[in-house]
Amino acid sequence: MTDATTISKNIAAIRQRIRAAETESGRQAGSVKLMAVSKTRSAAEIAAVLTEGVNDIGENYLQEALNKQQELAGEAICWHFIGPIQSNKTRQIAEQFDWVHSVDRLKIARRLSEQRPTDLAPLNICLQVNISNEESKSGFAVETVLADASRIAALPNIRLRGLMAIPTATKDPAAQRASFAAVRTLLAQLQQQLPECPWDTLSMGMSGDMEAAIAEGATIVRIGSDIFGPRQ
Ligand SMILES: *Cc1c(COP(=O)(O)O)cnc(C)c1O
Repeated sequence: MTDATTISKNIAAIRQRIRAAETESGRQAGSVKLMAVSKTRSAAEIAAVLTEGVNDIGENYLQEALNKQQELAGEAICWHFIGPIQSNKTRQIAEQFDWVHSVDRLKIARRLSEQRPTDLAPLNICLQVNISNEESKSGFAVETVLADASRIAALPNIRLRGLMAIPTATKDPAAQRASFAAVRTLLAQLQQQLPECPWDTLSMGMSGDMEAAIAEGATIVRIGSDIFGPRQ
């Protein structure tokens, strides 16, 4: 358990890094949103994040997320699902989250749209792309995104907001930037192909590569360990 004082200091440091990266790349201050990724962390640790004014919370595992959502009921939180999605879990994800960043196949998009309660706003989704083409990583292959996006865009109860990527981890900033640039290019292609969708979201950048992601146009960074400390 990381104490609230540490979390507060860590968030201040992350905000400075975001601000510096925005300035460095000539982007407007405040154009990059901070999501706190709270997998394995407690509801109390999330509460400390909320106190700092960070209300975008990302979770990877459904059951763990549902437990914390119950503990934090009544808090103003924008919940993001960012983990792998099994098709038998889509109903609860469609019911309990505001955003899903890890949509990695057409079938999942269809189920989320079908299962999104119609008294809620459409579910915001990002398509996860396997930008480094790794065997082991989930996400659409680039060609498949281009082929399936129009079908996904036509689904009624979701809003297709953008792309999410987790490139191969590397400490080389040039290699980090090359991967994120490829995601940015793909987003531009989709904007041309389907101008009716907002396409306003590039969900990319984690603790180790956030600056490179911001330089290549990230609109939301997903930060876990640099807020909560290393995962045990
Ligand atoms: C865990 C996780 C993060 C946060 O990673 P850190 O390196 O701890 O900042 C971001 N995105 C996804 C999809 C994750 O699973």
